[in-house]
Amino acid sequence: MNTTDRERPIESDAPLLEVRGLTIDAPSAGGTTRLVDGVDLAVSAGERVALVGESGSGKSVTARALMRLDPNLTISGSVRLGGTEILDRTEKELNEIRGSRIGMVFQDPMSALDPLQTIGAQVSEPLRLRGVRKKDALRRAAAVLDELGVAQATTRLRAYPHEFSGGMRQRVVLAMALVGEPNLLIADEPTTALDVRVQQQVLRLLDRVTTERGLGLLLITHDLGVVAGIADRVAVMYSGRVVEVRDVTPMFASPEHPYSRGLLAAVPRLDVRRRVMTTIAGTPPSLSARPAGCTFHPRCPVALPQCADDAPETTAIPGGTVDCHLSAQRVSVR
Ligand code: SF4
Repeated sequence: MNTTDRERPIESDAPLLEVRGLTIDAPSAGGTTRLVDGVDLAVSAGERVALVGESGSGKSVTARALMRLDPNLTISGSVRLGGTEILDRTEKELNEIRGSRIGMVFQDPMSALDPLQTIGAQVSEPLRLRGVRKKDALRRAAAVLDELGVAQATTRLRAYPHEFSGGMRQRVVLAMALVGEPNLLIADEPTTALDVRVQQQVLRLLDRVTTERGLGLLLITHDLGVVAGIADRVAVMYSGRVVEVRDVTPMFASPEHPYSRGLLAAVPRLDVRRRVMTTIAGTPPSLSARPAGCTFHPRCPVALPQCADDAPETTAIPGGTVDCHLSAQRVSVR
């Protein structure tokens, strides 16, 4: 991306992020394995969208593919940022987009940080790569760390990651994502490696900075408690496909897809006494041997005869969409 592209404002009438028909294939012993199969997703400016699902559902690989972070994967479909296609950009152009338009927060702050480099060098690096003078880049790095609640930020630029606690390290990773003033933040399980108390602090911080800066947020998580506290909309992934997208209130009040209902029923609740933990029967299918028809049918408690053969179409429902034959039947008789 050249300087003119970088300075071009994001078109206001296009979604901030629009993903259409995203497929991701990985090399495997038998040839290729389809990890993600036709995902559609959109995030508007200022909107917080959570992408949820069990481990292996494809949510993290989807997030990373948006920025083509895994060179071994074959990615097709369309990823538009502010109306402009970015999937066909060169590596150099993508490097411009990473940091300046999209900030990424990874799950484990310790592996996201270089133990041998100072906090200042790492937080200021996205600006230095864009040609900002060292002194100015460090000054801006300190300002962002200060905004994120790192005390004595200017002094602590000289510290190393091991001198920070887990929560403070995640603030540093967040600062690295924010220092380039992106429009969109992609946070991949940003609280998974933290204890519960620090998780809450980091979530409140994410909530505050995305609101104050008007950022779009794509939050990848398996934790529906996290979703309830921060998201505007929820996309549920199962076996490499998005099976339900809803506004957060109807999703929690009346999830439509049987898999979404299973995920929500499995969330531990302090206000409900249960003798046995609710779980979803069975295990997710191998991505190299997805079942025909609806991929959830071997585990679905309400499967119809057609579910084993025919993949469901996407159906509009109140507050979103769902891919389920049963929902399509219900909608058609309403
Ligand atoms: Fe269950 Fe059929 Fe709906 Fe799939 S399409 S979730 S198997 S009812």
